[in-house]
Amino acid sequence: MSPSRGPDSPTALLEIDDLHVSVEGTEILKGVSLAVPPGEVHALMGPNGSGKSTLASTLLGNPAYTVTKGRILVHGEDVTALSTPERAGRGLFLGFQHPEEIPGVSVLNFLRQAMAARKGIEDLSVLEVRMELIEWTKRLGMDDRFTERYLNEGFSGGEKKRNEILQMALMEPDVAVLDETDSGLDIDALRIVAHGIEEVRKDRPELGILLITHYRRILEHLTPDAVHILLGGRIVASGGVELAERLEREGFDAFRELAA
Ligand code: ADP
Ligand code: MG
Repeated sequence: MSPSRGPDSPTALLEIDDLHVSVEGTEILKGVSLAVPPGEVHALMGPNGSGKSTLASTLLGNPAYTVTKGRILVHGEDVTALSTPERAGRGLFLGFQHPEEIPGVSVLNFLRQAMAARKGIEDLSVLEVRMELIEWTKRLGMDDRFTERYLNEGFSGGEKKRNEILQMALMEPDVAVLDETDSGLDIDALRIVAHGIEEVRKDRPELGILLITHYRRILEHLTPDAVHILLGGRIVASGGVELAERLEREGFDAFRELAA
């Protein structure tokens, strides 16, 4: 494998290069580029409809989203044409904005299958999965009976998001894309989720995170190494955490003028 080396991202884990994406014939992403190096948290901030979830779905390989130009690289390898399981196998993880309810499938069984796929093993013993679950539910401050429940069925907003973090912990990804993991959470749930992300980072210091968010709130608990502002399918500004502070003061309109 020969890692491709972008000019400003010599060792990026995740590299998005001039990505153009269409949905049902309409171009939503119009040339997005960014790179997440190992161990860094990059926040991607944008108003509703700016294309944040489109980017997240495209990164995971949802076939409803067509890449018309550009590339996605993981560990320097072009994964643009790979299927979702192939991308997951290369260490890419997506936490959903709206996790789906799957009645009849317990959290335990879901995780067992997902972990087996990630590790490339046919079958993982229930015991092995249970041991890891006991450790992680404890670290994430969750009741371990939680894992007997059906996936996301009747979960509160906070439980759904914590469950996404639990999945992230067990899947042992190299790059995680978290789509509005903070949305719909009250202050306490937000702190718990941010703490959960930090717990996973402690175990995996090389983990790169693309944290997609609408608000600055979660960044008070989780300091990003870089902030990117997405507007109308384009990144109109990239910088440090001061960008998020400016956004808080001036709103997205200030950046709209910048982009115009
Ligand atoms: P955000 O997550 O930033 O709120 P989205 O990526 O969800 O933005 O949406 C960006 C634009 O793409 C919106 O105009 C939305 O209607 C459109 N879009 C996204 N996904 C689909 C889809 N599956 N089918 C049709 N339009 C879509
Ligand atoms: Mg969204």
